[in-house]
Amino acid sequence: MDTKTILNLCKLSNSQQSKHITILGAGIAGLVAAYELERLGHTVEILEGSSRIGGRIWTHRFGNDPKAPYAELGAMRIPREHKHVLHYIQEMGLEKKLRKFVTVFEEQNALINIQRNIFSMKDGPRISLEHYQGIFLDTRYSEKTRLFGAWLKTVVNTISPGNLRESLDRDLNSHLMDELERLDLEPFFSKDDESIDFHGFIKANPGFRAKCSKALDMFFSDILVETSHDLLQLEGGMDQLIHSLAAVIKAPIKCNHKVVGLHVQEDGVEVSWLKGQQLHTRHCDYVLCTIPFSILRKMDLRGFDKNKLASIHNTTYCPATKVAFHCAQPFWEKHGIKGGASFSGEGIRQTYYPSVNTNPSLGSALLASYTIGDDADYLGKMSEQERYAYVKKVVSQLHPEIAAPEMVTDMASIAWGSYEWSSGGCSIPWGDDVSSESNHHIHYLEAARPQNTLLFAGEHCSRFPAWIQGSIESALEVVYEIVTHKQTAVKKALMYA
Ligand SMILES: Cc1cc2nc3c(=O)[nH]c(=O)nc-3n(C[C@H](O)[C@H](O)[C@H](O)COP(=O)(O)OP(=O)(O)OC[C@H]3O[C@@H](n4cnc5c(N)ncnc54)[C@H](O)[C@@H]3O)c2cc1C
Repeated sequence: MDTKTILNLCKLSNSQQSKHITILGAGIAGLVAAYELERLGHTVEILEGSSRIGGRIWTHRFGNDPKAPYAELGAMRIPREHKHVLHYIQEMGLEKKLRKFVTVFEEQNALINIQRNIFSMKDGPRISLEHYQGIFLDTRYSEKTRLFGAWLKTVVNTISPGNLRESLDRDLNSHLMDELERLDLEPFFSKDDESIDFHGFIKANPGFRAKCSKALDMFFSDILVETSHDLLQLEGGMDQLIHSLAAVIKAPIKCNHKVVGLHVQEDGVEVSWLKGQQLHTRHCDYVLCTIPFSILRKMDLRGFDKNKLASIHNTTYCPATKVAFHCAQPFWEKHGIKGGASFSGEGIRQTYYPSVNTNPSLGSALLASYTIGDDADYLGKMSEQERYAYVKKVVSQLHPEIAAPEMVTDMASIAWGSYEWSSGGCSIPWGDDVSSESNHHIHYLEAARPQNTLLFAGEHCSRFPAWIQGSIESALEVVYEIVTHKQTAVKKALMYA
């Protein structure tokens, strides 16, 4: 359903009675819910544990100048089909700041590092094949099959966590090369056979995905989105969406209010939070919890049913780590790189170059490393200084310029896996335990299921985990539930009338 249809439904079903809703968490889900509930005539209050709003949308600016270079430590791209996100960008008057996001594998001058062999994306398939051993040397397979298999391995190596990389290796060796040999790969090679339209191939061959392990099959959905040529970004930073929403929400957003306990009762929810060292407890009629389950499961939870607790405890989160450098010069431009990403290898995976304009006299921001899964954990366990030194060393294999004294003038990084307010990058439907897409469907419905008047939203409660789109969709669904809900007291009064 599109955003306007859901909002119209909310408007039509909105009960006359104004409700008061306590919203836990000032990420995008909490803010969208607050904005819409207020517009429907309800009152809200927002309790946010950290000292900042935005949650996993976090733009780091290298300086205070409005045109200062910046890096996105959280969400950075918006797929054009994510209509809820685009709706709020338009609603906040930010659509004029939408720009193309040049993504991984799009910039042909970007680089690939396979065991310290550096080559450009445009030579990717052929040179990948030269550097891989084993089944890729098996001449019983046609050259096209081997080129395709090698490129598939490079794509998955660039984007996926370790367990999925291993799973692809197993699948290639046991049956996927045979499957590729059987398929007509010709239409997905460029005329000179130098590049492969992997996106087109996956779209045209859903049966191929079904032959991969279930977890990898589900991860292909993310790969398809991340490598789509139709991604957008907000010039000036994604946090503009957060701050624009916060500016039009009437209720105060109370930062440094750390929720520590929830007690579901028949007529509402008792919420406990710490402000400084002081513990506060209050009874609330309606509570919307957007706090990630990775945090919620550490709290004192009472009055929850067994299945709900199981969902809170068992939802899997994948770590993610980002490291950004403020560089004196955009040295990559000399190599014709104008955006997109290199595959930097050696545990730092993807290096993204900026593709929007900032003031060149203020330097340039390089997202030197974006990792998920085991690589993110590896980087996350280092001290910040060790992490910076390691990432700089690996990037210097691609770009020796980065090692020059005074090239890197500042740094910023976050290991979401150990971040106090999320204990994880995002919830995932492609963990080791995943058995099917319908399994994920059951997981998110359970995650979103309310406990009396305690309701849940956030990326983990949605069909689109790990995307802003999912957070917003789940928030809109909860707004509908709240406006259509009849309070127990009203129900009782009607029963005895
Ligand atoms: C590295 C990374 C890259 C991403 N890239 C993209 C992308 O390119 N495009 C995209 O669409 N999505 C992306 N995402 C996903 C997107 O950022 C999230 O889906 C979305 O921002 C989550 O919003 P939310 O409101 O559901 O949760 P959050 O943003 O996590 O909001 C929850 C809020 O609850 C607060 N909180 C936590 N504990 C407590 C407590 N005890 N008491 C009170 N408050 C508390 C938190 O501080 C936070 O503000 C990315 C995420 C990460 C981590």
